[in-house]
Amino acid sequence: MGEIICVQNCSYQYEDGTKALKNISFSIQKGEKVVFLGGNGSGKSTLFLCMNGILRPKKGKILLDGKPIDYNRKGLLQHRSRVGIVFQEPDNQLFSASVYQEISFGILNMGIEKEQADAAVTKIMEELEITPFQMKPVHCLSGGQKKQVAIADVLVMSPNIILLDEPASALDPKHTKLVRRFIDRMVEKGMTVFVSTHDMDYAYEWADKVIIFKNGEQMALGKPKELFVQKELIESCNLMQPTVVKLFQSLCEHGILTGITEIPKTMEELEQCLIAEKEKHNE
Ligand code: ADP
Ligand code: MG
Repeated sequence: MGEIICVQNCSYQYEDGTKALKNISFSIQKGEKVVFLGGNGSGKSTLFLCMNGILRPKKGKILLDGKPIDYNRKGLLQHRSRVGIVFQEPDNQLFSASVYQEISFGILNMGIEKEQADAAVTKIMEELEITPFQMKPVHCLSGGQKKQVAIADVLVMSPNIILLDEPASALDPKHTKLVRRFIDRMVEKGMTVFVSTHDMDYAYEWADKVIIFKNGEQMALGKPKELFVQKELIESCNLMQPTVVKLFQSLCEHGILTGITEIPKTMEELEQCLIAEKEKHNE
């Protein structure tokens, strides 16, 4: 373990005067699963862009392995090979004609030998199930396929940190599941993964740490179990409590569940609580 990335008192203001980030600070350990939550326009994407070095905070700094980002050309190239970003909208990320060119562009740009790059691209296409449509021009791909390619773009560089901006938005359930499986594999490989999402159920089940934003401000940081039981906080940030938490709290309030202090993590766990409660009454 140990800290991998640290955001210190960061603020960002766009040219038109919009204060998109206001004094954001947090520290993340290597291998942590982090979720960014917040309504539209709360600053999630802007923060990802700052963390990847595309935008430079007007105030504050970002440290990777204890060292501040070096904003010269070489420093940024190096930073971006270690902190990869997958944009919400794949069309903003993909620009090459073919899938192969698209995925190989980044690592060739890093100065890796053609042969080694080829091997890495082939491997990542296999892993992310892209091989069957690798010959198609990028602009002919479906939304889900574009997302797979956008993720491959970043993973092929073997970054230490990956930032996924609303990775499941506009995906059907099948592709959502596929992307979530890829995310789990990234975690297994020891990567530190950040996901921004509106899916509270997913955030609750998946995240180690959640950071909630509202109007560019950091409203809360903590474990999902600690934050999501706070109904007022969640609703004041334009979010909704996860289904399991909401139902659990209601069942407790109505005296249907009694004496349970550990809040269930999944619907299956909640089901077990109810069955146990019934057996208790039967005794
Ligand atoms: P989120 O990803 O949480 O939806 P964003 O980071 O995209 O939020 O936006 C934060 C704020 O910054 C919003 O008020 C948005 O309108 C504004 N914003 C985003 N991009 C730009 C831009 N290029 N120029 C001006 N304002 C922007
Ligand atoms: Mg966004």
